[in-house]
Amino acid sequence: MNARKVYLDNNATTRMREEVLEAMLPYYKDIYGNASSVHQFGRVARVAIDKAREQVASLLGASAAEEIIFTSGGTESDNFAIKGASHALRHRGNHIITSTIEHSAVLNACRALEKDGSSVTYVPVDGNGLVKADDIRKAISDKTVLVTIMYANNEVGTIEPVEEIGRICKERGVYFHTDAVQAVGKVIFDVKTVGADLLSMSAHKIYGPKGVGAIYIKKGTKIDSIMHGGHHEMNKRAGTENVAGIVGLGKAAELAKKEIVEEVRKLKELRDYFYKGVISNIPHVRLNGDPEKRLPNTLNVGFKYLEGESIILNLDLEGIAASTGSACTSGTLEPSHVLTGMGIDAADAQGSVRFSLGRDNTKEDIDYVLAALPPIIQRLREMSPLYEKGK
Ligand code: PLP
Repeated sequence: MNARKVYLDNNATTRMREEVLEAMLPYYKDIYGNASSVHQFGRVARVAIDKAREQVASLLGASAAEEIIFTSGGTESDNFAIKGASHALRHRGNHIITSTIEHSAVLNACRALEKDGSSVTYVPVDGNGLVKADDIRKAISDKTVLVTIMYANNEVGTIEPVEEIGRICKERGVYFHTDAVQAVGKVIFDVKTVGADLLSMSAHKIYGPKGVGAIYIKKGTKIDSIMHGGHHEMNKRAGTENVAGIVGLGKAAELAKKEIVEEVRKLKELRDYFYKGVISNIPHVRLNGDPEKRLPNTLNVGFKYLEGESIILNLDLEGIAASTGSACTSGTLEPSHVLTGMGIDAADAQGSVRFSLGRDNTKEDIDYVLAALPPIIQRLREMSPLYEKGK
């Protein structure tokens, strides 16, 4: 095994920051009270949760901390937004609009609602993975209650026209939810400008702990709970709060807000340096995703004539971690629904690899990958019958 390790799978998850861990540790040791308890032990935990709520609200640009509800992560936030809003508005209509390239947390929440009698329109995307705001406008009917379109795609990084979609939804009196799990910390935005009524985020994508996230619920938005029980989280999400996790999310949010401008600049520079190196050393490659409207850290490359899985395994032998798509769908061997949704044929979709950079990556890391990758591609192509035919 190679001694060097280069982690380029930051869209799957990130390494927790030291400062975040430090902030969390006391809540695993001495500060163990239940935040709902009235005694001192509980009150200290409550204060910590309230602080984290402020930190997350500030990162997202919410009008008030009370618009933030803590959850177990992006998946729960997506389910809460979609099922909760649909249930609350059932009397008004049963139609939901989403796109074909959403994360499985959104797609499967929509499918679950279809089984319950909702009707769902899946709008297509163009070759760069962009939803056309006009398609949303046309799809809205008097039965539509919710539009859910991701802020940025996890596989190709394409950033959707969320502000335009937000405006359309507002004009038509329809709720707008955006899954911003990949955008938070990588895109500078303010939820009020986006015009979202509901927004999902997750701590482990922003150098925080796994298993904790948040949902922004704009004041006045009608939403039913999906988790029933006690009066936690302003009666919206029952269950004893994960105090340490929430404190970690708050700290990660505070750091993300402080550092985002420099972080975005650095990631983009390194990502573009990487791609330049790839195209100047490897023939028959294509960039998947929008060349401009894209997350600063994400590079999804199609290597013609190859299987992404074998590239990943060979990179792994060199200590390099990348992925063929979303961590939630890898292992299925199906071509990515995101890439096929963009009109890429199944064979080219299978030969695509996602490299997602993070704050720990250096130019030396990228140089190491740029030295390892071309011979891997060359070797695999020489073994590929598709390559022989295509030559
Ligand atoms: N939505 C998007 C766009 C994601 O990338 C992910 C994670 O991969 C999720 C939702 C799910 O978030 P979590 O892992 O916190 O459940």
